Amino acid sequence: MKISWSDFVEQCNTCEACPLSKTRKNVVIYRGNVVAPIMFVGEGPGATEDEQGLPFVGQAGRLLQLLLDAQGFSTKDFHIANVVKCRPPENRVPTDAEAAACKKLLGTQILLCKPKIIVLLGKTAYTLFTGDKNAKMTQIRGAFIEKNGYLILPTFHPAYILRNNNERVKLWKDIEIVRKKAEEMGLMEPLPGAPDMPTERPSSK
Ligand code: SF4
Repeated sequence: MKISWSDFVEQCNTCEACPLSKTRKNVVIYRGNVVAPIMFVGEGPGATEDEQGLPFVGQAGRLLQLLLDAQGFSTKDFHIANVVKCRPPENRVPTDAEAAACKKLLGTQILLCKPKIIVLLGKTAYTLFTGDKNAKMTQIRGAFIEKNGYLILPTFHPAYILRNNNERVKLWKDIEIVRKKAEEMGLMEPLPGAPDMPTERPSSK
C-alpha cells in the first residue's frame, strides 16, 4: 500500500505502539530532505531532540553536522532518522521490543526517502538492520554491506566520538568513504579539494 509523506508523519505523531509514547514530548521523525540519496540512522532522540522534535540537534548531532558540513554535504543530500522516534528515558538504549515496535515506521520511512546509501550510526542501528548483536564496531565500521538493494555502511555514533575524541578521525574517514561512493554513483558532485577534519568540540548547549 502506498502512503504519502504527510500520512506517514501523522502515523508517527499518533503512534502508541510502545511505552516510549507515554514519556515523549515530541515524536522525532527526521531532518534533512524527505527524499535523499543518503540516509543516516542513529539510535534514538535525546533530551534536545525530544524538545525540538528533530533528530541529531544536540551536541552529538552538532558534531555530526560539523563533519558533514566540512565534507560538503548539503541538506538536499541527506535524511537523518533514528531506530526509535520517541526518547528513551534517561537516554538509555532502546529495548529490543521498542526497536521492533518502531521498525515498521522506519521501514516505511526508508521506502519514502528512497536512499541509495544508508549509514548506520552505532551498534543499535547495526543490530536492527543485521540482527547481529555481537559485532564490534571497531571491526565492522567503514566497509559497505549490501542488503535489500541498499548500500549500507556502519560507523560510530557521534555520541561515542564526543566521549572518545581521539577516534574522531575514524568517523571522519567513514563519512569520506560515503562521500566518495556517492560521487562514484553520481549522487554528489566532487569537492574541489580534500577538506581538513574540523577539530573543534561543539558546545554542549
Ligand atoms: S518509539 Fe516508535 S513505536 Fe514507540 S511510540 Fe514512538 S513512534 Fe511508536
